[in-house]
Amino acid sequence: MTRPERAPAPKRAKGARASASAEAKAAIAPPQLDLFPVRPVVDVLDPRTVVGAQTGVEHLVRVRLRPNDAPHLIFHDRHGWYCESHGPACHAVQLARDEVK
Ligand SMILES: [Zn+2]
Repeated sequence: MTRPERAPAPKRAKGARASASAEAKAAIAPPQLDLFPVRPVVDVLDPRTVVGAQTGVEHLVRVRLRPNDAPHLIFHDRHGWYCESHGPACHAVQLARDEVK
């Protein structure tokens, strides 16, 4: 009967450590981050305010694919729709177009 008693002992010790670790993480990271799906943040800007009064830019949209990501600046002008950093094929371009429809 001594073997079955020895086997579970190390598992209980590990379980206690994992529980303490989970509590520590919960104290650091706000639980709300896990409750809401990650959605893009889309801000429609005024091109005349950002670029200048004489600008030919029709639409200017700032897109963050995730709230903590660096923003994509999406321009709509005589050249069409394009991302300042990634060009017309950027995924954020479609999000910007949907936002100003
Ligand atoms: Zn982009």
